[in-house]
Amino acid sequence: MIVFACGISHESHSFSKLRTEISDFEGADVGAIDSKPELLDTRSTEGGILSAAQEFGWDLRFPFCAHATPSGPLAEEAFETLVGRLLGELKRAKAVDGVLLALHGAMFAEHVPDCEGEILERVRAVVGPRVPIAITLDLHANFSDRMAALSNIATSFRTTPHTDQWETSNRAARLLNEAMHRGTAPHVYVARLPMLAGMDMGRTIDPTGPMNRLLAMARKLELETPGVLDISLNAGFYYGDVFEAGPSVTVTAHCDDASYGDLAKKIMLAAWETRSFVSLRHYGVDEAIARTREVASGVGPVILVDYTDGPAGGAYGDGTQLLSALLVENPEKTVVGPIYDPLAVDEAIKAGVGASVRLMVGGRIDPAYGGPPVEVFGEVVRVSDGNYLRKGPYATGTTGHLGQGVCVKCGNVSVILVSRRQQPEDREQYRIFGIDPERLNILACKGINHFRADFEPISRELIFVDSGGLVSVDFTRFPFRNVRRPVWPLDDDVAPPQ
Ligand SMILES: [Zn+2]
Repeated sequence: MIVFACGISHESHSFSKLRTEISDFEGADVGAIDSKPELLDTRSTEGGILSAAQEFGWDLRFPFCAHATPSGPLAEEAFETLVGRLLGELKRAKAVDGVLLALHGAMFAEHVPDCEGEILERVRAVVGPRVPIAITLDLHANFSDRMAALSNIATSFRTTPHTDQWETSNRAARLLNEAMHRGTAPHVYVARLPMLAGMDMGRTIDPTGPMNRLLAMARKLELETPGVLDISLNAGFYYGDVFEAGPSVTVTAHCDDASYGDLAKKIMLAAWETRSFVSLRHYGVDEAIARTREVASGVGPVILVDYTDGPAGGAYGDGTQLLSALLVENPEKTVVGPIYDPLAVDEAIKAGVGASVRLMVGGRIDPAYGGPPVEVFGEVVRVSDGNYLRKGPYATGTTGHLGQGVCVKCGNVSVILVSRRQQPEDREQYRIFGIDPERLNILACKGINHFRADFEPISRELIFVDSGGLVSVDFTRFPFRNVRRPVWPLDDDVAPPQ
């Protein structure tokens, strides 16, 4: 079997000023992933596909797997370059028996709102109607009708933090393998309700939370219902201002039968019931600092989670409100960062390790979301190339890049500045700056969900902060234009679904 696999993945925040360029993508160059056996042992999307290819004896063509930190809409050139490379390699592979695409589901370009639907349409035009196409998605996908019509198999992550990237791509590969051998193309059904948010943003940390209950329902129905190959839940990405934004359920089935669409709707109706449930409480900056005083002693760090400025949700990662408050408070053994600021990094590196520096830090992209630049006066104690090997549960074994970075010590507070926007996700990101997160009193990081996999087990307490960043939980801050209306929670007159 000749199988073509390729990945293009990005979560695009419609209201971010930071346009996503081709240079923001890692792994975008054609570099033949099928000839990189070292990826076999990683807990990644690539690892799941390579393992399946080995197991099934596929002749795999896997030219690249590109992904970028969530940010604003893709520049037209970035989208066209990536998709052009994908189509060029697909045509070079000639008569393929199956296609496996690793996508996100919430990618948005300045000229194409439904990027995944567009990619599928262009791929389908090359391979024709009979070759099965499987797609893997992040569970924060905004799943469109066009994606359902043009794919044969769709399966999404089942965990947030997304620690099942390997399992998801491996599952898609298994379903694709069966479809290729059977010679029949499965169908994908999708159901949505007038909901922009819900499913507790897909969080699966609390075993009794709504997402886990819905996932259990999906697993049961998947087993019980003849002809069902996969049921996936997408919590949606509500900062993606597209018509079909919000939670959805997909059913992949052997044959074309409207009852599978009803099955998807049945789970969506259960999701409607818990739509307003949010498992996190967000504190204001002052409230959060006061809370750290209340839990002043104990084992492991108190983690101040600067949630609304989290790059994992498309925020800028250069907000300064929490930094500013902590510099004044000056609590013992405290680390703030990473904060995105390539200019400040440059200045600190030029000054060198041991030098005293006075830097203006952060707040450069849009101070309206997270505060203006803040003066940081301290000693440069460490410079790093920002490369780290992920050793925690999230994408284990793969390498990550913070870009050139520095650690500046200001009293009791160490500030980590980096030149690449990257979410906190692995303790190694601190070890490369000579910091053991386990020994800290306070760690202030810009995490949302994924950092929890490696950091929650060592923490004394997590305190979620709303510092006014772009991942705001206040929907009224955003001028939605494209999402279907009426929709909960933007409108009051949303009729309960039948
Ligand atoms: Zn996600």
